[in-house]
Amino acid sequence: MVDRNIGGGGDTTAPILTAHDLGKSFGALAALSEVNLDVAAGEAIGIVGPNGAGKSTLLACLSGAYKPTFGTIWFDGQEVTATDAPGMCRAGLVRTHQVPKPFSGLSTFENVYIGASFGENISNDEAYDRTVDALRLCDMLHLANRRAETLGLLDRKRLEVARAVATKPKVILLDEVGGGLTDAEADALVDIIRNIRARGTSIIWIEHIVHVLLQVAERLICMDAGKIIADGIPDAVMSDAAVVEAYMGHGVE
Ligand code: ADP
Ligand code: MG
Repeated sequence: MVDRNIGGGGDTTAPILTAHDLGKSFGALAALSEVNLDVAAGEAIGIVGPNGAGKSTLLACLSGAYKPTFGTIWFDGQEVTATDAPGMCRAGLVRTHQVPKPFSGLSTFENVYIGASFGENISNDEAYDRTVDALRLCDMLHLANRRAETLGLLDRKRLEVARAVATKPKVILLDEVGGGLTDAEADALVDIIRNIRARGTSIIWIEHIVHVLLQVAERLICMDAGKIIADGIPDAVMSDAAVVEAYMGHGVE
């Protein structure tokens, strides 16, 4: 496996995102500990692991929603450990939520427009263009005038992705966007995420359905009990003894 440690040397391109010895505790519970991660620009990484493994907590720390208890985060050449979620979004890192939370009473277009113009010093024209671009990328232009609360599950997931895309991220963190979808719906979502990736955006995608994840991710990380227990080529990770043990031990899948 490639040496992804900080200061490991030999890398010609600096990672876009680095977490060093990252930890997050809630009282006595270490939800996340000793996490080390380097993400290359344009890389697509899948994250799996049993419920409660700390996957969402990791994304929350990386996106500025949670302040880490330990460790350091760098993004795009800056130390961002104390940067909040709006600051991370402005810097170019955004995440979607496990449970989509569209603004009710607003249209699909308005929901994405808020994402496009959020915290940014951009003109209305630019925000409009970003909104149309994100809706088109997510196959939602025909739903632009629909009220967000009337959308079905796949379209609410697409809206969550479109709102994130409209911020023009360099890195997008996806938290179980495929959950609860049929196979055909999951395929539709995979196409969208591939198109986002084709623009050079790095993807970190948490998903339980591994075969869906691996249509996009070329690198797989498995977490258990707050730690990364395997990180590398998907085949190697899935056959790793610690990964098998983590799943068997928790009785998942
Ligand atoms: P995953 O996404 O892998 O299912 P989470 O990151 O959501 O796991 O949770 C990891 C652990 O941290 C769980 O034990 C969960 O109950 C706990 N946890 C997550 N968020 C909070 C919070 N805000 N307050 C207290 N405990 C939390
Ligand atoms: Mg989660």
